[in-house]
Amino acid sequence: MVKKRLSKEKQGLTVLTPENDFQFECRQDLDCFTRCCRNITIVLTPYDILRMKNVLNISSGEFLTNYTMSMIGDTGLPVVLLKMKDDDEKNCPFVTRQGCMIYPDRPWSCRIYPLQPESSKITERAGKQYYSVMDVPFCLGFEASRSLTLTEWIEEQGVSVYQKMEAPFKTITGNEFLGRNKITNKNIQEMFYMACYDLDRFKRFIVESTFLERFEVAPEVVGKIKEDDVELYYFAMRWLEYGLLGQHVLSVKPAVTR
Ligand code: SF4
Ligand code: SF4
Repeated sequence: MVKKRLSKEKQGLTVLTPENDFQFECRQDLDCFTRCCRNITIVLTPYDILRMKNVLNISSGEFLTNYTMSMIGDTGLPVVLLKMKDDDEKNCPFVTRQGCMIYPDRPWSCRIYPLQPESSKITERAGKQYYSVMDVPFCLGFEASRSLTLTEWIEEQGVSVYQKMEAPFKTITGNEFLGRNKITNKNIQEMFYMACYDLDRFKRFIVESTFLERFEVAPEVVGKIKEDDVELYYFAMRWLEYGLLGQHVLSVKPAVTR
C-alpha cells in the first residue's frame, strides 16, 4: 500500500488508485472552511439535480432557472453548471457560515473534492478508477494527520450511489456515435436537456402527451415513473438510448406503425 503525504508541490501531480492512502481531513475549525465553496465551476449531473431539487422541495424547472446555467459541450449536448452568486466572492448559493446547507445532498463533485477522476482512457487501460489530487494551495485539509484509502474516502463521502446513478448517463454521453457526430439539431439538444435535467417536465411529457399512446410501456412502469424520480430518471435514460442513439430499448405500439 502506498502512503501519500501530499506536499503542496505534489498536489497537482499525485495520482491515487483505490488502495492508495492519502492524508486529508476537512474540518469546520480550519481557517479555510468554505473557501472552496466560492468561484468554482461545478458541472451538475442529472442525479445531482434530482437530489438537490428534491431536498429544496422545488421543481426541476425552478431549480434550473434559479441555480444553474447551461452551455453546449464538445459533443453538442447541453451541460449544466451550478451558478455562483453575483456577490464579490462569487459564493455558491448553498454555502453558509456553518457550511453547506444541502450537505447530505451536495453534488458529486463536492463530495469527491479535492480529488478528481482521471480520464476514462487511463481507467479503462488499468481496469480501475484513478483519481488525481487537485492543486488547491489554500486548502488546509492536506495538513491533517488522518490517513485513509481512496476507497474509504469514496465510501465516507457517499460517492458510490452517485457513481451507480451516473453510469447510464455516462454510457450515453460516452457513446462513440456522439464522439463521431456532433449534435447540432436544437430539438435534439432540447430533448436531451429535458430528459437529463428537467425531470418534472420530462414526466409531464410522458404522462400528459400522446407518448403512452405511441409506445409500449407497462402500466406498472408508468406507475413507478409517476411516483419515483429515480425510476423516472432510469426511464429518461432509456428514452435517450432510443431517441438519441437509435437503440431498440423501447417499442412503438403496432397501431402506430400500421
Ligand atoms: S478548503 Fe479544503 S479543508 Fe478547507 S473547507 Fe474546503 S475542502 Fe475543507
Ligand atoms: S453545493 Fe455545498 S459543498 Fe458544494 S460548493 Fe455549494 S456549498 Fe459547497
